[in-house]
Amino acid sequence: LSVSARSVRDPDGTFAGAGLAYTDITDVLQALQVKDDFIAAVSHELRTPLAAVRGRTELLASYPDQPPEVRADVAALQRNTARLERLVSDLIQAGQLQSGALHLRCAAYDVVAVAAEAVAAAEPGAAAAGVALSAALDDGSGTPRRIPAFGDAGRVRQVLDNLLSNAVKYTADGGSVTLEVYWDDEVDEVELVLADTGLGIPPADLDRVFERFYRCASARQRGIEGLGLGLSITRALVEAHGGHVLVESEVGVGTTFTVRLPRLAASGGHASLVGRAG
Ligand code: ADP
Repeated sequence: LSVSARSVRDPDGTFAGAGLAYTDITDVLQALQVKDDFIAAVSHELRTPLAAVRGRTELLASYPDQPPEVRADVAALQRNTARLERLVSDLIQAGQLQSGALHLRCAAYDVVAVAAEAVAAAEPGAAAAGVALSAALDDGSGTPRRIPAFGDAGRVRQVLDNLLSNAVKYTADGGSVTLEVYWDDEVDEVELVLADTGLGIPPADLDRVFERFYRCASARQRGIEGLGLGLSITRALVEAHGGHVLVESEVGVGTTFTVRLPRLAASGGHASLVGRAG
């Protein structure tokens, strides 16, 4: 039942009583549940055939002596399969978050190593898009730093993958993306700062980009691919670690996402979108 209340006043404004309205919203809740179940069922069913398609395309790509046009077609197949797998995986995870079924598996890990892996994985996409990707992960003299932490390294990697792929996706040819990692001793917190010189986000959208399925008009109008789930998943995963994500942006200048993670996440944190707008 949904209950709403309002006060009833006499014409002279004095309080005369209160009115309560009860509305049965069982049907609405059931419809929402059916929608979530449907998305979960379809996305799970898509996963297996997609994995088979990926396996076969990888096999095709490994054949030697292919004419260049075949190689280009196989590469396009691989790109599109990867894109479909990303979309399906986002749908599955958004469903798990919605039902509170996504848990962290925490262990000791090195934040810098995870950041370096994420940057290396984003490199080919950035190069193909003409975006210069750089990361300041050493101590200034070329020696790699180590920032030991306790959390779910796979999920931290996913947070970085999401933010890096967005930064590249929303930055035009010739732009740049930089990732910096800081460690604040005083609060024992790690800060990951990801800046791009891309489209930017209008002030009115800055809070909304973390909602499920929300996409800025500029992204939709330009036909840039996406479901609008990446940032909602990102924020839920960071918050499950006890951290938070901040965004600053100027339209036409660029966007900076800052992720603050405590170095010691509460073990086995639980990621959820329940109660969030959207
Ligand atoms: P998706 O990228 O799939 O649309 P996200 O949840 O990752 O979904 O992002 C939500 C929206 O926020 C995007 O559609 C886009 O409008 C905006 N956005 C996210 N990252 C950036 C960025 N680095 N620069 C500009 N806009 C961004």
